[in-house]
Amino acid sequence: MTFHAKINGYADPALHAEGLYIGGKWLKAGGITVMNPSRDEPLAEVADASVEDALRAVDAAEAGAAGWRATPSRKRSEILRRWFELMSARAEELATLIALENGKALPDARGEVAYAAEFFRWYAEEATRIPGEFRHTPSGSHHILVDHEPIGIAVLITPWNFPAAMATRKIGPALAAGCTVILKPASETPLTAYAMARLGEEAGVPPGVVNVLTTSKPAEVTNAMLADPRVRKLSFTGSTGVGRTLLAEAAKSVVSCSMELGGNAPFIVFDDADLDAALDGAMIAKMRNAGEACTAANRFYVQSGIHDAFVSGLAARMAALKIGPGYDPSTQCGPMITKAAVRKIDRLVSDAMASGARAVTGGKPLGQDGYFYPPTVLENVPADAAIAREEIFGPVAPVYKFESDDDAVRLANETEYGLAAYVYSRDLKRALQIGKRLEAGMLGINRGLMSDPAAPFGGVKQSGLGREGGVTGILDFMEAKYYAVDY
Ligand code: NAP
Repeated sequence: MTFHAKINGYADPALHAEGLYIGGKWLKAGGITVMNPSRDEPLAEVADASVEDALRAVDAAEAGAAGWRATPSRKRSEILRRWFELMSARAEELATLIALENGKALPDARGEVAYAAEFFRWYAEEATRIPGEFRHTPSGSHHILVDHEPIGIAVLITPWNFPAAMATRKIGPALAAGCTVILKPASETPLTAYAMARLGEEAGVPPGVVNVLTTSKPAEVTNAMLADPRVRKLSFTGSTGVGRTLLAEAAKSVVSCSMELGGNAPFIVFDDADLDAALDGAMIAKMRNAGEACTAANRFYVQSGIHDAFVSGLAARMAALKIGPGYDPSTQCGPMITKAAVRKIDRLVSDAMASGARAVTGGKPLGQDGYFYPPTVLENVPADAAIAREEIFGPVAPVYKFESDDDAVRLANETEYGLAAYVYSRDLKRALQIGKRLEAGMLGINRGLMSDPAAPFGGVKQSGLGREGGVTGILDFMEAKYYAVDY
């Protein structure tokens, strides 16, 4: 085993698994190398599922379905609650594991574990409050009774940037609703998903209710599951490009889809903003996970009166961050996920600089082991540069100057994405009025962080379909059934 189980306190073999988790059994191992992005070296090897393995997982999810659906919601709730408690009790080991395979700094990893566990607590509570309806028809002809039933077997596909939270944000509501699931985590960060499956076993999740598989053939394996008529739900979090492909695939068998896709969040700072609050918020909105977040501020629009003070304040804070391996407790900015990610950031920054942007701090990849890019602030960035259109997914803050409110709104909305947006102003009425004109599913008003399990998370335009979390999240895993009743 190549797994560096002793790195920095991560010494819990009970949480470590490398095989497929199907029908409550751990099967076959080997095939996919998981890298340590902080050191550019192998960390572990996990199993590589074939199409046959995936269909076996559908069999297992089907075998577990009737029992789980019939399990009283109070019992389902208690299992989720226990899973939350186990994640909280093992938070440090999970955070270290995330820091190891994803590279994010430990404080970010700890934050993710707390956020991820909270989805199990929230949906443990929501499991017992599944709504129904009774209505009178306007014509008086009959009565309308609406029940909500579990939608059926759900395939859950998650990205590498939040390996714990993106999984619990789907598993929590699915299990609360009474569905059984097959989770396919990203190949870069499968160890966290397998560790959570171990904790799920311990929490009492029955065999077949949660299945986890890793594969080097995501398209083949997913398409086979979507073509299986027993699968009724696809819940995907990842890039808009892959989301589009999966929507087309799911259309063939009319599988219900929830899509949490890419973002290109504007961060708007008006002249009347509290500068320190805006800088604090900017650091969170930009630097959580070293910029590898779908809600990351991707474009900073700063009004001319506050522009220079904002740029110098942001550059000072960014330059002061300590870069290092994610699992080193003193690190504030960890590596990117892959070498390719560093190359993409470098391309976007070089392109912006070739068109007149200036790096106030950073601006070049760091030549060291691991996939590091330094915190960077760019000013004078042309509004039509590629960096304004593409997700940077790294620690780079391009700043654009604007004059009027109308300019800010126009520039902010000039994108195919519509996930998150941030507005800073001391005038709450102005901020809310601007918020109303912004094309985004989520708005941070004088706040750099909006994610919360109790709130609906999701985007408009090409950032996705549906909402996760909140009181409506459970309904994404349910179908309404209408009874026309005469009595
Ligand atoms: P990605 O390349 O789209 O991959 C996401 C997942 O899809 C991975 O598990 C990947 O598996 C799988 N996948 C790739 N191609 C597939 C195919 N043809 N069929 C089935 N599955 C396929 O995205 P990523 O690079 O991991 O994540 C970053 C993206 O996620 C960013 O765009 C970010 O904005 C977005 N994101 C959105 C949210 C949100 O809530 N809106 C949250 C987090 C991230 P492999 O790893 O095996 O390739």
